[in-house]
Amino acid sequence: MKQNIVVMKFGGSSLSDPKKIKNVASLVAKRAEDGKKVVVVVSAQGKTTLNLMKSAREISPNLHKRELDMVLTAGERVSMALLAMAINDLGLESISFTGSQCGIITTDEHSNARIIDVRPFRVQDELNRNKIVIVAGFQGVSYKREITTLGRGGSDTTAVALTAALDAEYCEIFSDVDGIYSGDPREVDPFKLTSLSYDEMLELAFRGAKVLNHRAVAYAKDKKIAIYARSSLKEGSTTIRKFKPEYQNAIYAVTRHPSLVMVTAPSAEAFLELMEKVQNNDLTIKYLVAAENLFKIFISYQFLPELKNIKIIFSHNLEVESISLLGNSISESTNIILKAEKILLKNDIKVHAMEFSHSHLTYYISGSEGKNLEKLFHRQFIKPHQNPV
Ligand code: ADP
Ligand code: ASP
Ligand code: MG
Repeated sequence: MKQNIVVMKFGGSSLSDPKKIKNVASLVAKRAEDGKKVVVVVSAQGKTTLNLMKSAREISPNLHKRELDMVLTAGERVSMALLAMAINDLGLESISFTGSQCGIITTDEHSNARIIDVRPFRVQDELNRNKIVIVAGFQGVSYKREITTLGRGGSDTTAVALTAALDAEYCEIFSDVDGIYSGDPREVDPFKLTSLSYDEMLELAFRGAKVLNHRAVAYAKDKKIAIYARSSLKEGSTTIRKFKPEYQNAIYAVTRHPSLVMVTAPSAEAFLELMEKVQNNDLTIKYLVAAENLFKIFISYQFLPELKNIKIIFSHNLEVESISLLGNSISESTNIILKAEKILLKNDIKVHAMEFSHSHLTYYISGSEGKNLEKLFHRQFIKPHQNPV
């Protein structure tokens, strides 16, 4: 049976200054006053993680992965203690814990670890003492007892993992948008998707909508956890749970994945050499395409401090972005490809590679064209009346 516990996660945008931290404290207090036991997962404030990465780079150009994780985990530690102070000042009792103190056990891949177990005994003890528990997201401890981080945006995964381990009712992820939209509200004029299936949200997150981390969504799908995406500043939400896909035969979202490098190899030998470099440098391939002895791989550098690191490893590289049209039966409609191709031709946009499946149509194009194509696609494919709600 579900416990009377809720997990609330606040991202960096909701914690970037003292006023926002106090606002978060009052949102948490409201849940506690509603009679819930509350666990709060926090990210680092604003751009703290990026700034910590930059400081580490200024000290050394080399990847000291263990030490980098020590540096980066400090960001969330600051947030957790500040929020605990703000909540205590409201007359409620709270206590903050690092990931390792909450028993978040991970693999040993520094900067990109995965959660393998959660043993939240200290969290449970403090909840039983009626305390609000604040947890530093994005971090854990490996089975080798080293401090690890979960990859950019990893606090979402901490929140979902704790929801599962505590058998909590649900998980709320707060950011600066009041839900999930048909496109990035900073770039296009989208409509809100008030409910999404896990698979739809997974596609959105994997294809670049950073509002939720795709590993967190996969974890939620696996453990059947409902996620509510909310804003810390206004009402409204999107629910992500085991719905059947709702957006049949229609494009329901356009996403853009920035920060990709395309590396090419003109022969099978060159490709082998390239793959060895990928492996030796712990890089993750987002997409790979090969035809007639031309191999193209697309690497995301979201997890690495700087693009330079990847670019200096390979000789033939180019900065690219991917733009995706998401729908549930896309491959049944050749109309969609026709329409997309016309837009690309008319706007003289060169395509480096393309993917087409049941759930998405994705174009890999030059980085400088990404925002333009995102806007063009959204205008042409998304109609406000498609909103089923
Ligand atoms: P946080 O700092 O709280 O983790 P993020 O910056 O990671 O927040 O995620 C929120 C941002 O995600 C929004 O400001 C918005 O620009 C962006 N975003 C991208 N795609 C979408 C989308 N489809 N729906 C909502 N927000 C989106
Ligand atoms: N602070 C980390 C990041 O910026 C983790 C997170 O925000 O979820 O990626
Ligand atoms: Mg985030």
